[in-house]
Amino acid sequence: MTLADLQAKEERYLMQTYRRAPVEFVRGEGALLWDSEGKEYLDFLTGISVCSLGHCHPAVVEAVRDQAQRLMHTSNLFYTEPMVRLAERLSESSLGGRVFFSNSGTEAIECAIKIARKQAHRRGVESPEIVSFERDFHGRTYAALAATPNLAENVALGPMLEGFRSVPLNDVGALRDAVYENTAAVLIEPIQGEAGIYPVSDEALVAARAACDETGALLILDEIQTGVGRTGSLWAYQQTPVRPDLLTSAKALGGGMPIGACVTTPEAGNVLEPGDHGSTFAGGALASAAALAVLDAVDDPELLRGVRERGTALREALMELDGVREVRGRGLMLGVGLDEAIDAAAVGAGLLERGLIVNVPEPGTLRLLPPLTVDPPQIERAVTLIGESLLSYATR
Ligand SMILES: *Cc1c(COP(=O)(O)O)cnc(C)c1O
Repeated sequence: MTLADLQAKEERYLMQTYRRAPVEFVRGEGALLWDSEGKEYLDFLTGISVCSLGHCHPAVVEAVRDQAQRLMHTSNLFYTEPMVRLAERLSESSLGGRVFFSNSGTEAIECAIKIARKQAHRRGVESPEIVSFERDFHGRTYAALAATPNLAENVALGPMLEGFRSVPLNDVGALRDAVYENTAAVLIEPIQGEAGIYPVSDEALVAARAACDETGALLILDEIQTGVGRTGSLWAYQQTPVRPDLLTSAKALGGGMPIGACVTTPEAGNVLEPGDHGSTFAGGALASAAALAVLDAVDDPELLRGVRERGTALREALMELDGVREVRGRGLMLGVGLDEAIDAAAVGAGLLERGLIVNVPEPGTLRLLPPLTVDPPQIERAVTLIGESLLSYATR
């Protein structure tokens, strides 16, 4: 099928919920992708931070191949070892409690919201509320959607779930005012990803933690984008002054296989009981085997140090470019704020032409999520391409 054929059939047969770039990818290896015409691309988006170890990482491929030929799925009515080992690994590397598996990020959020609401009911709260930051992104199922203020405004999808409110990012006073005895949880991303890479300040994190401790609310950190090494530690919260009660993971966790997880502290690990939650696919042997291979590779001090060092190198090189106003984020999760006169969407499209994949989450911002294994020459190549693209835009 040619690209034109694909585009015509996609339009005929797929619900038109995405605006896709006119490229068909057919192969990937490490930081590189190739399209159906043989053109090579440097991938600084990695499937929105899913293929964080690079495309087709040999250990992940081997784990999937090995598990697929032995056993793919049995349901949660039985025991399988990959799931149990993965839960142990997630718990011991973070909050020390229990894990609920899901198949996506938004479902991990659903689990966290269920825990928070149930915990609040146990305290006698009748109408529990969840507080998030404006422009947070937590997913697209209805509870996660209600906690995603921008998208929850879409009245055509209403009515929305009740009991959600939001305050401006890093507004400590507003956050403190919003959290009171009816608050079940503060649910926030440590660094807003979809909004364009906006970090939560340490001050706001400390205030959120304190407000939760004073009221009995749970602090939920959505690490679906920031987790699994992206910021230079296994979990982003580990580089902040706070520890959450719940954390959610997905995206990079499966290295390309769909899997999500909600991880608790020991105290929050017994809130959900039989009948409260479930999933047919979740924690399946295939996805769990892939995730174990991912954690084997990522939970490595040397790799994580590399993420921090390369993140710093990338940030500093970007700051040198004409047209770059600021660089936000941590590790290899960077938002490049462009000068006001520059049309970021045009720059993004130009970069795709030149063979560099980035994305443009909002006007004025390029989002960079390169593989954690990206090497210094690839960083140099990306910076050169971005510099050229900004220059060609400025001279037009
Ligand atoms: C991607 C993302 C989600 C949703 O994950 P899905 O797997 O698309 O459901 C939720 N929260 C954050 C922070 C994300 O980046």
